[in-house]
Amino acid sequence: MKVAKFGGSSLADSSAVLRVIDIIQSDPSRRVIVVSAPGKRNPDDIKITDQLSNWRTQIHLGHTGNEAMEAVYSRFFEIEKNLGVNIGIHTELLDIEERLKGGASYEYAVSRGEYLNGLLIAEALDFQFKDAADVIRVSNLEPVEHHVFTRPLKMVLKKNNLVIPGFYGQGEDSTIRTFSRGGSDITGALIASALNASEYENWTDVLGMKMVDPRIVPKAVGIPEITFQEMRELSYMGFEVFHEEAMFPVWKSNLPVHIRSTAEPNKLGTLITPNIDRAKRKYDIAGIAGKDGFTSLTFKKRLMNKEVGYVRKLLSVLERHQVSFEHIPGSIDTVSLIVESEKLTAKKDLILEEIDHECSPDSVTESQMAIISIVGIGIVRQVGIAAKIFSALSEAGVNIEMINQGSSELNVIIGVKESDLKKAIKAIYHTFVA
Ligand code: ASP
Repeated sequence: MKVAKFGGSSLADSSAVLRVIDIIQSDPSRRVIVVSAPGKRNPDDIKITDQLSNWRTQIHLGHTGNEAMEAVYSRFFEIEKNLGVNIGIHTELLDIEERLKGGASYEYAVSRGEYLNGLLIAEALDFQFKDAADVIRVSNLEPVEHHVFTRPLKMVLKKNNLVIPGFYGQGEDSTIRTFSRGGSDITGALIASALNASEYENWTDVLGMKMVDPRIVPKAVGIPEITFQEMRELSYMGFEVFHEEAMFPVWKSNLPVHIRSTAEPNKLGTLITPNIDRAKRKYDIAGIAGKDGFTSLTFKKRLMNKEVGYVRKLLSVLERHQVSFEHIPGSIDTVSLIVESEKLTAKKDLILEEIDHECSPDSVTESQMAIISIVGIGIVRQVGIAAKIFSALSEAGVNIEMINQGSSELNVIIGVKESDLKKAIKAIYHTFVA
């Protein structure tokens, strides 16, 4: 049994939904379907989730919110009409309108796109609709531990197939709680692992993942197979194909995730699996990700290596200000803290003052940095990988400001000037993929 989740851009209007219905019906093992709200039909369009949010905000501010409301109504009318179903969408919309006027929460409002799309698609497929609010308990805790009530789902599955709206569930107090944006991926992952599915298919409008951001290398080749750990490294550094938080439930239950495209349903996309056979991989690395927006603070102190607890003192200042660090490269008398600039900005002066007071560094230097992560299982132990990266960067005229390799077996981390980020990524990509 497969759980298949379809993203908003694959469900943006009735013709997209009809394509999805064909995909579902072409494989009888696709028995549990998780749907997003209708997304953008073109780059200038507005997602239904955003329209619902606008609608609520307008009502909240004492306006009619008619423009957003009409956008929501017309999109769902179109889908209902052209799917040839009748779920009483008008009554549903009137009910939502009523509740919004009665002060319904933001999370309730933005969850309605998934709810209505779920009702429509269940009807069109003749599958049973199950409201996510009845089967998923959204946790407030960190790290999150959401819960799926499997009994009602298994009962339905004995006789029928299921459609479940993505993106939300019930909170501790039984009100509607949503996941973070793009969170239908999380719903699919939770349901697939709770039901012990054989595979979690995650359908979007792009064909799986590319080895590097196609905005930087337009013809970047695809990644046919990748491990969870590699995927985590890449998504942490900005790969956006699969929600970062959706990784954990499927990873924990070793359940393969297949990222596929509704535009090219016959192609295979990317399979995320617990393990891969490295020998079968065409290239030495799995992918390259990079982001700018980091600050490197370098502290120098003579005989730092002899001073027990120096780094602890530095880190305890960050801890007090609730700032986490990304990397902490060092040498005998120097240590650098690499922190996301956004997290630091407002508190930087105070943090530096406290460090000055408590750690008395001889000097402090600050620079802005971009970080690139070259990811691939086993690359750290493979002879020649670092040499390839460094000569590619040197040929491209990029200076390496920081290197971090070794603590994890599967990535080499490089710091470069923010203005060199794209040039560096291109150079590294071409040295591995040609
Ligand atoms: N509709 C929600 C969003 O736009 C959730 C999702 O699409 O996964 O973020």
